[in-house]
Amino acid sequence: MEIQDPRLRLLLRQADKIADAGKRAAAEQMYRQIIEENREVAQAWLGLGQVVADPTEKERALEKAVQLEPEYPEAARALALLRGEPIPKWAQEPEPEIEEVVEEVLVEEPQTAVSTGSRQTVSALGDEEDEELFCYRHPDRSTALRCYNCGKPICMSCTNKTPVGYICPDCIREKEAVFFNATTLDYLVGPLVSLLLSLPAGWLVVRFTLGGGFFLFIILFFIGGMVGRFIGQFSKRAVGGRRGRYLPHLTVAMLILGTAVWLLPFILAIFIGGLSTLFAFLGPGIFLFAAGGALFSYMK
Ligand SMILES: [Zn+2]
Ligand SMILES: [Zn+2]
Repeated sequence: MEIQDPRLRLLLRQADKIADAGKRAAAEQMYRQIIEENREVAQAWLGLGQVVADPTEKERALEKAVQLEPEYPEAARALALLRGEPIPKWAQEPEPEIEEVVEEVLVEEPQTAVSTGSRQTVSALGDEEDEELFCYRHPDRSTALRCYNCGKPICMSCTNKTPVGYICPDCIREKEAVFFNATTLDYLVGPLVSLLLSLPAGWLVVRFTLGGGFFLFIILFFIGGMVGRFIGQFSKRAVGGRRGRYLPHLTVAMLILGTAVWLLPFILAIFIGGLSTLFAFLGPGIFLFAAGGALFSYMK
């Protein structure tokens, strides 16, 4: 049966999607809304019958769907299954060849998909830009935006603007999961490698920069950058090249730790020898600044 009202057609499609996603309560509410506006929509009765929990109501809804549309295989099938009766031959699920299915989905227009009541093709959110769209997370909010990645309609408060267009929260999570693929073990191994390499490097720096002059500080700056990249290469290889949101921070923290432990005696010396000892921190500080920056950008 053809649903004339485009808004109801869209509502039905969204209800089916929500039901497919397993959100029964939300889907039930939407099917009821459709039925309230038009009691003749067999697909809505079928949908309601599939999501409602109460068995009496389930049967009543499925009966209504069959009554409205006697040759509605999905409804007949659902009702027979509920009653434990054999499924009539005409209503049995067709098992078309896979090639045929692909062709069907490609050829089928979204409009005919709805009119045949076929649940499988409902996801074909198509080229009906003239229809009113509703945010897939807020079915009551009308919107003109779609996620550029998956095409779902989204409202302004759900979107995130990216250089390529608006994107929905689901797709952002998906993309982040692909981008940040580090395992828990990586979070141990990466920083550990960084610490093991930073300890000798830090020792050398602290040992040889005491009382250094201006020239030494310049050299330290360049050496720091090289050491940072070097530690980054090893740490990155140790975690199999994977990325973690906080891996750069942690490896840099280990670099600082690996250098700072050698400075502990000097921290004590400040109390004894006075502020002139602070000079001892200048070389290591320059080294850490350069090495930390290089390491961080390498691990990103
Ligand atoms: Zn999306
Ligand atoms: Zn929304």
